[in-house]
Amino acid sequence: MRKPGILILASLLTAAVSCGEKTPQAELTSLTVSPTELSFVSDDASNKLLLVSTTTSWSAQASAGWIHLDKTFGESGGSVSVSVDPNEGTADRTGSISFTGAQSASVSVTQKGSDIRVLTAQPDAFDGNKRSSTTYQLLIYSFADSDSDGVGDFRGIISKLDYLDALGVTALWLSPAHPTSSYHAYDVNDYFSLNPLYGTEQDFQALIDAAHAKGIKIYMDYVLNHSGKDHPWFKSAAADPESAYRDYYVISKTPDEDAAAGRIDNYGGARVPGMGSWSSLGDGKVGYKGRLHFKLDWTGSSKTVTVTQTDEPAQSSNPSAKIWLWIGSNAKNVGLYETSDNIFEITLDVDTDWGFLVRTSTTTWDGGTKWGGRTGSSVVTFGEPLKLDNSTAANIVFGETSYYFGSFGSYMPDLNYGPYSTASESAAFKDIASSADKWIRMGVDGFRLDAVLWIYQAQVTANQSFLKQWYDRCNETYRSLGHSDDIFMVGEAWEAHSTEKLYYKGINSCFEFEYFGELCKALGGNAASYVSTVNGYLSDHTAQRSDAITSIFMTNHDQNRAAESLGKNLDKEKQAAAMLLTTPGKPFIYQGEELGYWGSKDSKGDVYVRTPILWDKAGKDCARKGVENNVDNAMLTSSISVEAQSADEASLLRVYQDFSRLRNTYPAAAAGAMSASPLNGGAVASWYLTSSDGQKLLVVHNCGSAEKSLAVSDDITRPVAVLGTVKADRNTSLILSGHASVVFLL
Ligand code: CA
Ligand code: CA
Repeated sequence: MRKPGILILASLLTAAVSCGEKTPQAELTSLTVSPTELSFVSDDASNKLLLVSTTTSWSAQASAGWIHLDKTFGESGGSVSVSVDPNEGTADRTGSISFTGAQSASVSVTQKGSDIRVLTAQPDAFDGNKRSSTTYQLLIYSFADSDSDGVGDFRGIISKLDYLDALGVTALWLSPAHPTSSYHAYDVNDYFSLNPLYGTEQDFQALIDAAHAKGIKIYMDYVLNHSGKDHPWFKSAAADPESAYRDYYVISKTPDEDAAAGRIDNYGGARVPGMGSWSSLGDGKVGYKGRLHFKLDWTGSSKTVTVTQTDEPAQSSNPSAKIWLWIGSNAKNVGLYETSDNIFEITLDVDTDWGFLVRTSTTTWDGGTKWGGRTGSSVVTFGEPLKLDNSTAANIVFGETSYYFGSFGSYMPDLNYGPYSTASESAAFKDIASSADKWIRMGVDGFRLDAVLWIYQAQVTANQSFLKQWYDRCNETYRSLGHSDDIFMVGEAWEAHSTEKLYYKGINSCFEFEYFGELCKALGGNAASYVSTVNGYLSDHTAQRSDAITSIFMTNHDQNRAAESLGKNLDKEKQAAAMLLTTPGKPFIYQGEELGYWGSKDSKGDVYVRTPILWDKAGKDCARKGVENNVDNAMLTSSISVEAQSADEASLLRVYQDFSRLRNTYPAAAAGAMSASPLNGGAVASWYLTSSDGQKLLVVHNCGSAEKSLAVSDDITRPVAVLGTVKADRNTSLILSGHASVVFLL
């Protein structure tokens, strides 16, 4: 196609030259260029075309070096492609392109100045009215020590209320405050009093009053599933079958039979395997002292042991035995004699405080070589064969004992509230509710309820019913004091969201344990689902009850530190804070999270995730006692201290403070409805927050590690919070560095 075109043009030119006299002079001397004005934006990458109309040769020249022409000379008409360098100055600039030939012509070139500007936050002044419900999870024992005994205390917390106020929190969840036998205090020994290590009731009252004066509520951690083993209730129950406290605990002589018959109220109607164990109360005669004859019948598929009292002479162990008893207070193997085919016998002087077992190996307990009772309460009756079993292989005992149930093992016995539908009528319920009344009357504003799944062993209906009775009982006391709102209660229903949400039937808040996984997913660059997932939590909870409060958090004292899960990546930790504090719901900050504490309990135990706050570089007020040998010293250096981070504008602590202030300043940030913005998708999580009175914020988080440019149609002239480097160009596009965030007031 090209060749014919050239041929036609060539023939026309030939005609023009050869017929010169016949061609009007005007055409020969004409030169026009169009358009006569070119306009570029600051970083324009386009080429713009100029059409040159003439029949004679021409040349072109740009007036400035930033204007580039693809050709500066032509034999006749044609086109010139014009491009420009980026204009990095803020001012517009102008230049021109001059054409000379048959005539002269000029094209003006203008280029806008750069309007790419770095955004800085310009929030409205904070009026001091904290609007957010942000809560700080605080471990009393390791938060702040006022009297230098190394244990955190109530006066220590009072001395740090300014810190908590600056962090923007409006409530404290205190770890259990009651007397205890452990450092963590989840084994309560008296619900009506306070751990003397933490201070007196006067100190506690002073804390409540001082916190309230700063707009900070106090939530106590209440442990309803179990008490400590050293609680006087349990001691009495264990010592005396006639004790009034016997019914406060889950006690049975025959747990399996009672469970099968539905007599264990704690199971809420059904046995849930896996969680919890039965321990001997030690009240029965499980052992025996005296002469006994043992006969094992190994002839059939059903193995039995028959024990009889006897005056026959005692025998010594058979050194070439095939089968043994494991018996004695200092247990040892005793070989039996084969008296006929597969009948094994021995007479012994017995002195055992626990019973006995049968073994078919002296060197291993594995592979079915251990034989015993089929249930945890196998009592041998003298003269009667007892069936043996090598799967459960429980100790065979000589008398009845009672067993108590502990969801978390033998040192925290579960409390018994009877049939769930009438739990509030049980003595244990009334007693503990009465203790809660005492603290509510002192000014406590709510409770965090420990282990609510296990009150009635993961039985949702039973737990819902119990929690509603507990809530209503506490709320009645709370409202009787003149409060116009309802008491706040957040449950530790450590379950998948699909089950957790059901617990809102009983109480007005639960921890959303799936939230942090969604946050980590977003911070890994998969941010598209964040908004819809969070909105799903909110709507699912509200569907259970209209006053539902979704408690969101990263991690707590039972989990690896958030920073650990985020790979100790400070950019991600900062953005995690910014996202938590721009997300609807009730955010919780776990002590030390705001400083970037890391630690894994998987390899180093619980204490590594419960590290004391390092207040200043010198370690003053640091509550190290009991945890000092389990602190990661590589972490707890002066640079991570509150003193150091308060002075560092680029610190993680400052991000928490800034975004908390944002949340407290704007009603839309504190309690606005969330909806995805057009920018949401891929590595970008972006949403609007709209308050009931119409205030609207645009929230943008670039969760990727690469810079991101986004065209925006919203008004981005009012940035009110910025994390990382955020630039805008002409209010039509945003440029966010990796893990940068920005919030605009629209
Ligand atoms: Ca102390
Ligand atoms: Ca329980």
